Amino acid sequence: MKRRQILTNTAIGLTTGAILGACNQTTNNQANSTAQSSDLPNLKWRMVTSWPKSLDIIFGGAVMICDQVKEMSGGRFTIEPYAAGEIVPGLEVLDAVQNGTVECGHTASYYYIGKNPSLAFGTTMPFGLTAQQQNAWFEHGGGLETMHKLYSDFNIINFPAGNTGAQMGGWFKKQIKSVGDLQGLKMRIPGLGGKIMAQLGANVQVLPGGEIFLALDRGAIDAAEWVGPYDDLQLGLNKAASFYYYPGWWEPGATLELQVNLSQWQKLPREYQAMLKAAAAQANLTMLALYDGRNGEALQTLVSEGTQLMPFPVEIMQAAQKATSELYQEQGTQDATFGQIYQQWDQFRQQVRNWNSINELSFTSFVANG
Ligand code: CA
Repeated sequence: MKRRQILTNTAIGLTTGAILGACNQTTNNQANSTAQSSDLPNLKWRMVTSWPKSLDIIFGGAVMICDQVKEMSGGRFTIEPYAAGEIVPGLEVLDAVQNGTVECGHTASYYYIGKNPSLAFGTTMPFGLTAQQQNAWFEHGGGLETMHKLYSDFNIINFPAGNTGAQMGGWFKKQIKSVGDLQGLKMRIPGLGGKIMAQLGANVQVLPGGEIFLALDRGAIDAAEWVGPYDDLQLGLNKAASFYYYPGWWEPGATLELQVNLSQWQKLPREYQAMLKAAAAQANLTMLALYDGRNGEALQTLVSEGTQLMPFPVEIMQAAQKATSELYQEQGTQDATFGQIYQQWDQFRQQVRNWNSINELSFTSFVANG
């Protein structure tokens, strides 16, 4: 069995075990577990995040990890989650974890493509994988090993710990009818999506979630994307712009992640490592379920309050797809690591897309048109 399968099985087994444990293992293992757990140290960690507390699903993913670890360790291992700006700014989580300011963080790898462009693969790629496909890439497509290798240069180990699902294309103050309408448009959009928008003529900016509303409302930017209806409503973005475009072709399934300082990770008892992995896996699943469960209702609210819902014109989708392919080729030429990862990732993308066009797309298309 490969190492990643053992890790995955351990994480799943531990989650299941935690549930079953309360029912039937207490008596048999009481003496043993008491003896073992008494050896486990009391630890207090801090977790910085890229999120404001008002975004209860995404910040809630970080809180869930901390709560689960506390619960599983019987209160011995506690982690305090901090909102963006409380200890470090929202886009400096990686730096804080790398240099040991804190032990761990909850963030998105694509905020840090300035340090290494390949970090984009850990979050989402324009015209890339859906949430389900992204998880398949991590677990069985070599993705997690790939990201671990990239992060070892930063003295960090990462675990997928949340997913937004396919995102919306964001908020625009004016209607966008053609690629020409993107010229000079000041837009908040991070990651490679931002690079492609820049190639299409936009003036791209990266702001943390908590700063988007004011920038859009005051006209410092003309357009902004964040996640989707539930979050965007929480941030009040509908009060700052009227036109809400879809789909978010640059983020078909964005993964958020737990980052742990590698030196701290290596010092952890194996039990605590397993707890962190299990808690991250649970957050990865639960966050996606919450977004899928709540976005539909939030979208209805937005439309009923006057938001104008619009698909991106086909001309823009096609131009963006072409620019994306060119960007991947160019990045691969400039950066050998990116090129190698892209080749492997692209093969996986083609295979999983072929499969999902048979099982998922055929079903979804049929019921959507029925
Ligand atoms: Ca986004």
